[in-house]
Amino acid sequence: MRIVVNPVLCQSHGVCTEEEAPEIFTVGGTKTVEVKQPIPPAEQLDAVRNAIKYCPTGALSLVED
Ligand code: SF4
Repeated sequence: MRIVVNPVLCQSHGVCTEEEAPEIFTVGGTKTVEVKQPIPPAEQLDAVRNAIKYCPTGALSLVED
Protein backbone atom coordinates (compact mmCIF):
# COMPACT_ATOMS: atom_id res chain seq x y z
CA MET A 1 0.00 0.00 0.00
CA ARG A 2 1.30 3.41 -0.97
CA ILE A 3 -0.06 6.89 -0.23
CA VAL A 4 -0.79 9.10 -3.21
CA VAL A 5 -1.46 12.85 -3.00
CA ASN A 6 -3.29 14.73 -5.73
CA PRO A 7 -1.35 18.02 -5.78
CA VAL A 8 -4.14 19.75 -7.68
CA LEU A 9 -6.62 19.04 -4.86
CA CYS A 10 -4.37 19.47 -1.81
CA GLN A 11 -4.71 22.93 -0.26
CA SER A 12 -2.39 22.36 2.72
CA HIS A 13 -5.27 22.46 5.20
CA GLY A 14 -3.21 20.27 7.49
CA VAL A 15 -6.06 18.09 8.73
CA CYS A 16 -4.05 15.02 7.74
CA THR A 17 -1.00 16.03 9.75
CA GLU A 18 -2.35 18.08 12.65
CA GLU A 19 -5.33 15.89 13.52
CA GLU A 20 -4.93 12.46 11.98
CA ALA A 21 -1.45 11.20 11.11
CA PRO A 22 1.42 13.51 12.10
CA GLU A 23 3.90 10.64 11.80
CA ILE A 24 3.07 10.35 8.11
CA PHE A 25 2.30 13.85 6.80
CA THR A 26 3.76 17.34 7.16
CA VAL A 27 2.85 20.72 5.66
CA GLY A 28 6.05 22.62 6.28
CA GLY A 29 5.23 25.79 4.38
CA THR A 30 4.76 24.03 1.06
CA LYS A 31 1.68 24.28 -1.13
CA THR A 32 1.21 20.52 -1.15
CA VAL A 33 1.42 18.18 1.81
CA GLU A 34 4.64 16.20 2.10
CA VAL A 35 4.34 12.48 2.74
CA LYS A 36 7.14 11.47 5.11
CA GLN A 37 6.37 7.76 4.83
CA PRO A 38 4.72 7.01 1.46
CA ILE A 39 4.54 3.33 2.37
CA PRO A 40 2.94 3.53 5.81
CA PRO A 41 3.81 0.99 8.50
CA ALA A 42 0.98 -1.31 9.54
CA GLU A 43 0.47 0.47 12.85
CA GLN A 44 -0.18 3.76 11.01
CA LEU A 45 -2.74 2.42 8.54
CA ASP A 46 -5.79 3.36 10.63
CA ALA A 47 -4.44 6.91 11.05
CA VAL A 48 -3.77 7.13 7.31
CA ARG A 49 -7.29 5.91 6.52
CA ASN A 50 -8.69 8.59 8.84
CA ALA A 51 -6.56 11.23 7.13
CA ILE A 52 -7.97 10.10 3.77
CA LYS A 53 -11.51 10.13 5.15
CA TYR A 54 -11.28 13.56 6.71
CA CYS A 55 -9.16 15.40 4.14
CA PRO A 56 -11.55 18.21 3.18
CA THR A 57 -10.59 18.13 -0.49
CA GLY A 58 -10.29 14.38 -1.06
CA ALA A 59 -6.65 14.77 -2.05
CA LEU A 60 -5.38 11.55 -0.46
CA SER A 61 -5.67 7.94 -1.49
CA LEU A 62 -4.06 4.56 -0.82
CA VAL A 63 -3.11 2.44 -3.81
CA GLU A 64 -1.88 -1.11 -4.13
CA ASP A 65 1.60 -1.47 -5.65
S1 SF4 B 1 -3.95 16.19 1.94
FE1 SF4 B 1 -5.92 17.09 2.50
S2 SF4 B 1 -5.85 17.41 4.73
FE2 SF4 B 1 -3.76 17.05 4.03
S3 SF4 B 1 -2.91 19.10 3.69
FE3 SF4 B 1 -3.75 18.40 1.72
S4 SF4 B 1 -5.87 19.17 1.64
FE4 SF4 B 1 -5.16 19.28 3.77
